[in-house]
Amino acid sequence: MDWAHLIVLRATMPAAGAGPSVPGHGDCAGETNVNGPGPTRPELLVAGGDVVTMNPRREVLLGGAVAVAGERVLAVGATSELRARWPGTPELDASDCVVTPGLVNAHLHQTGDPLARARIPDDLPPGASVDTWAVPLHAAHLPADDELSALLAGVESLRNGVTTVIEAGTVAHPERVAAAMHEVGIRGGIGAWGWDVPGAPFAGPAGEVLDRLAALVTAHPPGSRVEGWVTLVGHGLASDELLAGAAELARDRGARMTMHLSPSGADPEDYLRRTGRRPALHLASLDVLGPHLLLAHAVWLDDAEVEALLATRTAVAYCPWAYLRLGQGVTRAGRHAELLRRGGRIALGTDAANAADSADLLRTAALAVGLAKDMALDPTGPGAAEALELATIGGAEAIGMADRIGSLEPGKYADLVVHDATGPQWTPRGDVAQQLVWSADGRSVRDVLVGGRIVVRDHACVEVDEPALRTAAARAAEALLARAGVPLRSRWPTLRAY
Ligand SMILES: [Zn+2]
Repeated sequence: MDWAHLIVLRATMPAAGAGPSVPGHGDCAGETNVNGPGPTRPELLVAGGDVVTMNPRREVLLGGAVAVAGERVLAVGATSELRARWPGTPELDASDCVVTPGLVNAHLHQTGDPLARARIPDDLPPGASVDTWAVPLHAAHLPADDELSALLAGVESLRNGVTTVIEAGTVAHPERVAAAMHEVGIRGGIGAWGWDVPGAPFAGPAGEVLDRLAALVTAHPPGSRVEGWVTLVGHGLASDELLAGAAELARDRGARMTMHLSPSGADPEDYLRRTGRRPALHLASLDVLGPHLLLAHAVWLDDAEVEALLATRTAVAYCPWAYLRLGQGVTRAGRHAELLRRGGRIALGTDAANAADSADLLRTAALAVGLAKDMALDPTGPGAAEALELATIGGAEAIGMADRIGSLEPGKYADLVVHDATGPQWTPRGDVAQQLVWSADGRSVRDVLVGGRIVVRDHACVEVDEPALRTAAARAAEALLARAGVPLRSRWPTLRAY
């Protein structure tokens, strides 16, 4: 049964390429239009909220407004001024709200885990969650499961204010993931997983894997609302030929590349045994590192690897909840705060629904800077301001999209979040960054726009019938778990007591 198509309320939008663009307005908070001429009249004012622009001056406009024209921000400024300039423009009332740019999640498994959420036990030995669970689950995914999983991931992301997600990799049906992302109205990257290690499930020759990756990038070119990324599983699941070929493909196409590396000490051990080099240095020797590459994790780095990532401008997706959930040693080995301090490119990620689990990026942002302070025994280290940078403009830069998203400035896509600031966690109001990061979380997210379109209104996705999604997911999950034959268990006796 193809559940996914039953729960989408409206026809999907066309894939956005370089959409309409707009002129700048020098007297507003954003001064330059980064994308040339376009519409001069907004269709919507998001008005009356405290606008956290994340522009280069990091201006916060109390009672400000964002004018939206087509897919893009036309102007950011005082509500009274924008109302006077464009009288009669429809408004989204953001009074008593905080308005931020959409958040960026640079590492999210949209398939494999969402339908098995909270099923993989949290006390397994290293590797078991992959061998015993992830591999059979991916193998048992029907095309509709991939789409349904991505819909779930998209709904959860948007309702937490995440407007851009980078897919960590789908084994079988990335096109269905792309379809779901269009349906729910989220922006991001998709990837087709492949590997060429003999004997591994789903393995194929390097050339075959590269052809598949190339086809995905062709179908979803860089700059599209959903763009194809050259995506490898990483770890030890790629030959040198595949690693080098993938980097070459990404560079040739102007595409981005991502892969997992060293979340735990296992990859360094494996690379040292196989290649005589630590992982990042081996990648450097193959000319794989560079600004096109986003490494997921990079927790266990030695000094030379840190230097290599900095020198090559390689980006890192930092997923701290996963390392805590899986006991991988971030508090002992993590160098992310050092990378950040030294100008490294860091984004945040929430990994899989059974490894970090929540798609609430504000929780992740708080943890990232909290860990940095604690590991350094230094409370003067990165705080809420840096956390918000990681979640917005910094994350956007790390995934190569800072020219399009990550701040509220004229010419950028109108990806924004309206946080309801009337709850107790917002009372009384204080420093907006501290309150967003330390006090609040995704539960305050009321409305979300992606590319100028309202995709979440009053805490619910506009494009998706959420009750129908819940029902479909429950049914599909039972069938998927049965097909996969995974060893379901419960720590406690679970009794029927209807
Ligand atoms: Zn991952």
